[in-house]
Amino acid sequence: MTVSRCSVEPTHSERRVRLARAMGRAIADFSMIADGDRILCAVSGGKDSYVMHDLLVDLARRAPVRFEVLAVNIDQGHPGYPGERLESYMAERGYAFRMVREDTYSIVQEKIPAAKTKCSLCSRLRRGILYRLARELGCNKIALGHHRDDVIVTLMLNLFFSGQLKAMPPKLVCDEGDVIVLRPLVYCAEDDIAAYARERGYPILPCTLCGSQPNLQRKVVNDLLGDLEARHPGLKQNMLAALRNVRPSHLLDAELWQKLDLAVARSLDGGPVEGPHEELQLVSLDRLRDAG
Ligand code: SF4
Repeated sequence: MTVSRCSVEPTHSERRVRLARAMGRAIADFSMIADGDRILCAVSGGKDSYVMHDLLVDLARRAPVRFEVLAVNIDQGHPGYPGERLESYMAERGYAFRMVREDTYSIVQEKIPAAKTKCSLCSRLRRGILYRLARELGCNKIALGHHRDDVIVTLMLNLFFSGQLKAMPPKLVCDEGDVIVLRPLVYCAEDDIAAYARERGYPILPCTLCGSQPNLQRKVVNDLLGDLEARHPGLKQNMLAALRNVRPSHLLDAELWQKLDLAVARSLDGGPVEGPHEELQLVSLDRLRDAG
């Protein structure tokens, strides 16, 4: 499916509706929210998590399903961290909010050499704290602000550098099985989020205080996709569409074929498979046996 880009800039409220719809679709598609949920909304102080929190709080007010949203920010001990700006923002609006101070900065500084990227360890430590906080605060779910562009960049990174065909799970249960991580913004475009955040004037906290080197591979893929999108508008949206339209029979994962009980891929009219653009259906072993 090719998605054409609208040349007229949406108004603020149109953009909000678009983001809310995209989030609502992801929540529905993956049954992310159930009655009685208490969701820890991880607010980093970046644009993505502000927008996610805003939309989730609004949804909690309107949705027929009753659920709670608790915003949490972790002050990881970066020198000069201006967490009070986030605290004031939450307090002024009466949002349920906790600021938690945990010095992971010192640990990361000690373990990772100065010239290396620190994000991997830093995020792992933060994720561990979030799981612990969810349990302590009685939350059964954690919402993270990853959006469409994070998903497709991760897909490309895994494809190019890890030899794996995977992006990011929209919904993931932790190893202990008691907390579920949600990514309600997986259908939301970063451009929309950024424009909406600018219009709302959230007090964005800087993300350069840690002094970490940027992840070079992520930057390369980001730039590549940015260039491609500029030349082929709608390309990113098509990549998202592709992730929602997977043809296992056209992938070379023998284990997956076995799991899905596939014997052969066949064209829809029953004829031979002739080319990469041919519509295919999956033929299970059972169906082949039934057909004699
Ligand atoms: S940019 Fe800094 S704070 Fe953010 S994940 Fe990387 S190391 Fe941690």
